[in-house]
Amino acid sequence: MKLVKPKVFLLGYTAVDEDALRDYLDYVQCHEFMESYQEALYIGIHPGEALCSLYAKLCYKSLTAKGNDNVSKVRGIEGNIKGCFDTGHGSVFEHCNLNFVITDCSRVFTHELVRHRVGSAFSQTSGRYVRSDNMSMVLDDPLAHTLKTKDGDLLINVMRRWAEATEEAYNNVVAQFDWDAMKMVDKKKLTSYLRRNLPNGQANEIGVTLNIRSLRHLVQMRTGRHAEWEIRLVFGQIHELVKKKFPLLFHGAKESHVAGLVEVTGMKMQPYEALDMFTDEEVLKEVKRRGI
Ligand SMILES: Cc1cc2nc3c(=O)[nH]c(=O)nc-3n(C[C@H](O)[C@H](O)[C@H](O)COP(=O)(O)OP(=O)(O)OC[C@H]3O[C@@H](n4cnc5c(N)ncnc54)[C@H](O)[C@@H]3O)c2cc1C
Repeated sequence: MKLVKPKVFLLGYTAVDEDALRDYLDYVQCHEFMESYQEALYIGIHPGEALCSLYAKLCYKSLTAKGNDNVSKVRGIEGNIKGCFDTGHGSVFEHCNLNFVITDCSRVFTHELVRHRVGSAFSQTSGRYVRSDNMSMVLDDPLAHTLKTKDGDLLINVMRRWAEATEEAYNNVVAQFDWDAMKMVDKKKLTSYLRRNLPNGQANEIGVTLNIRSLRHLVQMRTGRHAEWEIRLVFGQIHELVKKKFPLLFHGAKESHVAGLVEVTGMKMQPYEALDMFTDEEVLKEVKRRGI
């Protein structure tokens, strides 16, 4: 039995076909936007973020100042993205997807993760297809030392021996069958039957795709102090990886550390959220600022 901890890889993200973008901008006579796009990339904004800005600007015909007679100037891409986050104009951020693989994570974690139904896609190790002769486990060892037990190390040892005993029992049953003589369909039936006695902490892998809107929601919710240790660990890694490539994505966020893991708070999620926290005067000021 091997002890492992989850590790996240950011494999891919939405890209922009610049030739197609140029064609579109020429067609709608907004080719000046291309300069704005190039400037955005130059200051480190990701093409996926800039694409969301294009969709936001499309709503108000504000790719360039000439598009809408109601306006005489338009914001650049950076200002526009920050403005959308500030006002909670979240739907434009559904256009950009990020693709992750999380390896060596437990089924405790994956079960929690897949509850997030919106703006997400998942592909997980099959418990019917893949046999578990060599079990890897994700155990919440830091927890053992926070409990009021006499000896945290003793608890950790008991948990490890328990997992080893499960692995041994599993392998004893596996050894009673001639797997090579079996058809795949029967192997699957038996593998599926055996997994019913496997622990929740057993490690597996999951591929996850999230759009930016969902990603912000999940990072905020799942790095929070009330979430479980493993999902906090994973979303802490996701936060770090994404921050490097998508500099504006966590605009408005505050970072602190709780129980040794990052907690991300403060990101606005919905357009009218938190207005009730203001006084009447502040509401009027806020409404004016947001142009509601
Ligand atoms: C600390 C913590 C403890 C938890 N404990 C439990 C538990 O004991 N038992 C349990 O079953 N679950 C538990 N959960 C899971 C929780 O109930 C949610 O299922 C999970 O967090 C998914 O979040 P979400 O509802 O925001 O869904 P997402 O799929 O992430 O959706 C994002 C947002 O879209 C909107 N939305 C999504 N679906 C709908 C819909 N059908 N109708 C209307 N609006 C929708 C909501 O605004 C939602 O917040 C826990 C979660 C946390 C963070």
